[in-house]
Amino acid sequence: MNQAKATDYDIIIAGGGMIGTSLGLALAPLKLRVAIIEAVARSAEQQPSFDDRSTALSRSSQRTFEAMGLWPEIVAASTPIKNIHVSDKGRFGFAHIDAGEQEVEALGYVVINRVLGQVLQSSLSGVDGLDLSCPAKICAVAVASDEVVATIEEPGGQRQLTCKLLVAADGANSGVRDMIGISASRVDYDQWAVIGNVLPEKAPGNCAYERFTDTGPIAMLPIADERAAFVWMLPPASARELLTLSDEEFTDRLQDTFGYRLGRFSKVGKRAAYPLALTKANGLIAKRSVVVGNAAHGLHPVAAQGFNLGMRDVAALCDCIADARDDQAESLDCGSAAILENYAEWRRSDQKKLVRFTDGIVRLFGDQRPPVPALRDLGMLAFDMIPGVRKTFAKHTMGLAGRLPRLSRGVPLA
Ligand SMILES: Cc1cc2nc3c(=O)[nH]c(=O)nc-3n(C[C@H](O)[C@H](O)[C@H](O)COP(=O)(O)OP(=O)(O)OC[C@H]3O[C@@H](n4cnc5c(N)ncnc54)[C@H](O)[C@@H]3O)c2cc1C
Repeated sequence: MNQAKATDYDIIIAGGGMIGTSLGLALAPLKLRVAIIEAVARSAEQQPSFDDRSTALSRSSQRTFEAMGLWPEIVAASTPIKNIHVSDKGRFGFAHIDAGEQEVEALGYVVINRVLGQVLQSSLSGVDGLDLSCPAKICAVAVASDEVVATIEEPGGQRQLTCKLLVAADGANSGVRDMIGISASRVDYDQWAVIGNVLPEKAPGNCAYERFTDTGPIAMLPIADERAAFVWMLPPASARELLTLSDEEFTDRLQDTFGYRLGRFSKVGKRAAYPLALTKANGLIAKRSVVVGNAAHGLHPVAAQGFNLGMRDVAALCDCIADARDDQAESLDCGSAAILENYAEWRRSDQKKLVRFTDGIVRLFGDQRPPVPALRDLGMLAFDMIPGVRKTFAKHTMGLAGRLPRLSRGVPLA
């Protein structure tokens, strides 16, 4: 008897946000029975994943979407980043990275989450064996030796679904992570990110800016219509105040902080704020279950790595399941301990490195005690002058370091 077919699904994905939906689509070539359970409708104003933020997609995320066949639609709605300019406000240190020097057509692509959501969601309906329940929430989980029973709460009431593997992709405050018995640590950065977009006098072209200031970093990313998306990270009280300012007052503050590298700012769009914390799951797998994306690692957005790291989780999980399918053919059990252990073994080091790297940047640039700022200047100069250092750095931030799964290399699963 085919063991996998005894359950409703091979895989249930808790959370149909940026990572959960991408995982559901990435699994399509494996012809499994997959359910995505998402709590908040995509069109809802309060959708927590596909919102007004902009995401800088790394090269490895680009390759993953290429391998999934979704890149033409995503790239049509994205702006390439060909240069990155990093500076420390009021100091002489600066650094830059250039796509030409790294021999790539772009260092990354900026896409608005809501737009990425439209592309991903519209692709779901074309996938055989993939069901989306939304709005629906996983509210309880019971794990047995051969299956997982998930209780789903929907507007019509509750129902139970069974699967071989439960994937927690329900974000940094993952409830499903708790339900499967994986604890997490959380360190508050005492910083919020205020996001929005603005029209600069000089078109940003394809340059992304990261400017470190005494109160926190500010990133300015090129988006469509010659506008720039800002991510302004600063203490919670200052962020709250920024949200109360008129558009003119806000634009003046932004200008003071970012400077005039892009000329005068005008026409600021809607603003929103996000409290920033580092969350880390104290384990990546439990019996018949796995945590991915922000449920495994919620990072500070300073280096624009959170989603990209999550996409490497997606690619590695798909690889582990695809390999097992090749070996086990009809009797594939997606939640087997062997698959999950391979996955955890593979992902641990990349996740640890990225957490350390991102957290390190926040702390290094947040420290204004002498001699740290002066050492930072020297570090940035050295970075700018030594191409080998830039190459290694760019390789890591583009998500191309270490052993890469098929999808991260642009190779389709089947
Ligand atoms: C300001 C800002 C800027 C950023 N910029 C970048 C960037 O440029 N590049 C980058 O790589 N990363 C960036 N990130 C990080 C990136 O946004 C996250 O890593 C990414 O959104 C994580 O996606 P996720 O699907 O894992 O989690 P989420 O986006 O949190 O989605 C989780 C989903 O699960 C659903 N859910 C929750 N509980 C349940 C439940 N019990 N049952 C069913 N569904 C449930 C939620 O409704 C939600 O849709 C940024 C983050 C911030 C805050």
